[in-house]
Amino acid sequence: MIVIGAGIVGLTSAWWLVQRGHRVTLLDPALERSGSETAASRLAAPEPAVRGEQASGQPQLLSGSDAALGLLMADVFHRSSGRAWRLRQRSRTLWDQWRRSLEERGLPLAFRPGLLLLANDQDQGQRHRVLVAERLAQGIPLELWSQQRLASLAPQLPAGCCGALYSPRDGQLDPAVALRQLRIDGQRQGLELLAASARRLERKGGDWCVHLESGERRCAAGIVLAAGLNLAALWPEAAAASPAPRLAAVLGQALELQLAAGDPDPQGWPGSLTWCGINLVPRPGRRLWLGATLEPGQRADPEALERLRSLNGQAPAWLQRAAVVRHWQGLRGRPEGQPAPLLQQPAEGLVVAGGTYRNGVLLAPALAELVVECLETA
Ligand SMILES: Cc1cc2nc3c(=O)[nH]c(=O)nc-3n(C[C@H](O)[C@H](O)[C@H](O)COP(=O)(O)OP(=O)(O)OC[C@H]3O[C@@H](n4cnc5c(N)ncnc54)[C@H](O)[C@@H]3O)c2cc1C
Repeated sequence: MIVIGAGIVGLTSAWWLVQRGHRVTLLDPALERSGSETAASRLAAPEPAVRGEQASGQPQLLSGSDAALGLLMADVFHRSSGRAWRLRQRSRTLWDQWRRSLEERGLPLAFRPGLLLLANDQDQGQRHRVLVAERLAQGIPLELWSQQRLASLAPQLPAGCCGALYSPRDGQLDPAVALRQLRIDGQRQGLELLAASARRLERKGGDWCVHLESGERRCAAGIVLAAGLNLAALWPEAAAASPAPRLAAVLGQALELQLAAGDPDPQGWPGSLTWCGINLVPRPGRRLWLGATLEPGQRADPEALERLRSLNGQAPAWLQRAAVVRHWQGLRGRPEGQPAPLLQQPAEGLVVAGGTYRNGVLLAPALAELVVECLETA
């Protein structure tokens, strides 16, 4: 099998194919940077993600998977049935299982459980109450936290916060660590990583052939096309497919902040926080990720960044004092004319997967499982 694209969707698909006993090549030009398993990486403990600015001082434009904050929001999803709900629940279960098996093989993933959705008005508080009642009836643990309980948290929450919903099973998975450990584990089980760019696909007899930018050609019985925003460009007859796989780019900017000396460590919170659509993710070393903006297109808006930095004008004093140590941006693919995520099998042996929009890290395992099911039942 050949998997095109080593973002979280392609990598988890390749890794799951390998677990199922398939011989797999994963190709992506970005693998040149992330590299393969080396003696150093074999010995190294997972390090925090490195997301940086270029020498020019401009934030680097990363792929969705390299830019992601890694929030896994399954139980707090606003619906309780349908495909999107089922995929979220399946992914939550699979991430738990995959974390355990990777840990047993000496490759732990960095997951911090706990998610606190803050309510900024009474309407939102009411929506939280309805959701908690619904989840408790399903046997899923969600809690309502009062304003008094929140007042005891340090660092202090934004002033307009009037209550919260706490989800103990949702949380944050460090995407960079997950990508690296899956690559290493896959390689140890025979996954071939190829730093190469696919130019086009061609059906040749019973096989699919991938023509690479280098002029080389690789053929296999099955292809997974998971090339993010480039997915439609590589899919033969994509425009004629029904529905046609159209992905709109939505840019997201994010910041890493270093808290001022003397201010409390956000690791004291019961997990990651979400306030008016902005996520606050505690990081090691008294740091905090803040993200991400939702900007249609590929051009970053400095005002959107300012709104993020100031929590829409409601940043508490400790947040205003924190120093920006990193700024990055990445692109998400939002499907047009069909719901996220996108999974299509236009021909035998060809599976197209992506369009996970804001939830690719969460949805990747369930999507990978479906991708493999498509190829095995073809
Ligand atoms: C700022 C930001 C924050 C986010 N936060 C979260 C979050 O908290 N939780 C969450 O679940 N999701 C989050 N997301 C969304 C998530 O990151 C995406 O949904 C997910 O990463 C998409 O994964 P993908 O593998 O489909 O695409 P990508 O990550 O874009 O990967 C596609 C890969 O294909 C490769 N490729 C492209 N063209 C070719 C070619 N011709 N040949 C070979 N390879 C090719 C690219 O190099 C790339 O590596 C966030 C996204 C952004 C931008």
